[in-house]
Amino acid sequence: MRLPPNTPLEKFAEFIHLVQEICGRENVEIVAKPEQLSKDHYLDQSKVHDMFYLLGKDCFVSSAVVAPRDVSEVQQIVRLCNDFDIPLWPFSIGRNVGYGGAAPRVPGSVGLDLGKNMNKILKVDVEGAYALVEPGVTYADLHNYLVEHNLRDKLWIDVPDLGGGSVLGNTTERGVGYTPYGDHFMMHCGMEVVLPDGSLVRTGMGALPNPNSDPSKPAHEQDANESWQLFNYGFGPYNDGIFTQSSLGIVVKMGIWLMVNPGGYQSYMITIPKDEDLHKAVEIIRPLRVSMVLQNVPTIRHILLDAAVMGNRASYTNSDKPLTDAELDQIAAKLNLGRWNFYGALYGPEPIRQAMWQVVKQAFSAIPGAKFYFPEDQPDNLVLQTRNLTLQGIPTTTELKWVDWLPNGAHLFFSPIAKVTGDDAMAQYQLTRSRCEEVGLDFIGTFIIGMREMHHIVCLVFDRKDPESCKKAHWVISTLIDDAAERGWGEYRTHLALMDKVAQTYSFNDNAQMKLNRAIKQALDPRGILAPGKNGIWPSNYNAEQWEI
Ligand code: ADP
Repeated sequence: MRLPPNTPLEKFAEFIHLVQEICGRENVEIVAKPEQLSKDHYLDQSKVHDMFYLLGKDCFVSSAVVAPRDVSEVQQIVRLCNDFDIPLWPFSIGRNVGYGGAAPRVPGSVGLDLGKNMNKILKVDVEGAYALVEPGVTYADLHNYLVEHNLRDKLWIDVPDLGGGSVLGNTTERGVGYTPYGDHFMMHCGMEVVLPDGSLVRTGMGALPNPNSDPSKPAHEQDANESWQLFNYGFGPYNDGIFTQSSLGIVVKMGIWLMVNPGGYQSYMITIPKDEDLHKAVEIIRPLRVSMVLQNVPTIRHILLDAAVMGNRASYTNSDKPLTDAELDQIAAKLNLGRWNFYGALYGPEPIRQAMWQVVKQAFSAIPGAKFYFPEDQPDNLVLQTRNLTLQGIPTTTELKWVDWLPNGAHLFFSPIAKVTGDDAMAQYQLTRSRCEEVGLDFIGTFIIGMREMHHIVCLVFDRKDPESCKKAHWVISTLIDDAAERGWGEYRTHLALMDKVAQTYSFNDNAQMKLNRAIKQALDPRGILAPGKNGIWPSNYNAEQWEI
């Protein structure tokens, strides 16, 4: 359907022939017909296009998708792409929904499906409390491994809201989860990376050879240094960061620290009845979180996020206008929830949990009408029951449901970083809600509290089959990116269609960071074959202005 840029059909056919020789015909899919763009659900995800398309189904689409069987095939494919000047877009599972899924930024790129065949859990080390994984290992796979090997009493993983994505892909995108190990990049340790010229590096302690390894084996098969997954930084400049949200390497192995079973667990929900008490809640949270009395990555969720998991829009209202405060109060009352709902957990043996709970409860009691619940108090509350699993690292897919808020539901995430202050939270809430309402969308969102900041995740749900609805969602997110930058707020991650725009907001000192990124890109990928345009970084052989969206 779409050829790679500047690639005539004969050249593409020759490339495909050679790539089939590398990884077998069965591992090469050419995207030739519109029917191949029919997949539209997370659980059976498309690997050739963005299922939550904003600019038409065939805007972000691959020319072919190739699934290597091992690291040496990845290296050969990368070299072939250099020979043919064909852009390559790596992905692990392709469930990066809300940010573009498996789709490439440059239409006609060749998708590199790392997850199909390279999906082994290479190691789980109980004493060191870590795992070493290939790209195709999902959160569900790693959790199931612990269960099947009777290791859950020793080790837990950390999971994002949906457990079907890969540990490696989520970490390289700097995604988050909700246990004390919620910052996935912080908890990764050691990478093996194929660079854009096809060479292979191990980062951190992995750069130091294991004296017992067999040097006659290919590098990727050699035993690694025994401290590779124990100490992140090794010696010299720390490289791992440049392989996240990046177009500088294909990560083919990654270490991830696992949480030692804390010896006791209790999740909870605190309901906050008044909309404006978001301010008070955030002021209460900051000192507790920064001092780690709040041990995990907790969330304050807007009533409509919880409501949308439990029913679609039509089940709550006939109105085609954004829900009013009075209607939101009614929904909250009906669901026995607050306008904001705080989900956290206590970890450790009972005396520790009890002491922590007393502090948490006392602090939140300053909010008028706040109520405190354990999962056992509300067995029918789907969200509380789901968070109870998520906060102990058990993967689920229940939260997929909120995307069905509208018919043909798709979503974009607008994800600015906020200070953990009541003023910042209220200002971001007011801004994002009012922009949504300007085009008739309901505000659906959550504040995820990291160590010293909040990821404010606004879920912009739209009807992907209605071009008007797509247009509105696109307008809201573009406008919000500008609004936010004017106030000094920036996004931590974004959809393919907004990457240029967000990158331009990080413009301090005459775009010094972009200049640095381009210089590194030029040095490592002079032919510009790896993920051109990813996060707004265009190789020198692309005219950035022409490609900009
Ligand atoms: P998930 O595993 O959550 O489904 P994806 O596979 O969709 O995530 O990957 C999301 C994005 O992360 C990709 O579009 C790509 O930019 C980046 N990515 C994923 N896997 C890798 C990898 N192995 N090496 C480099 N970048 C990757």
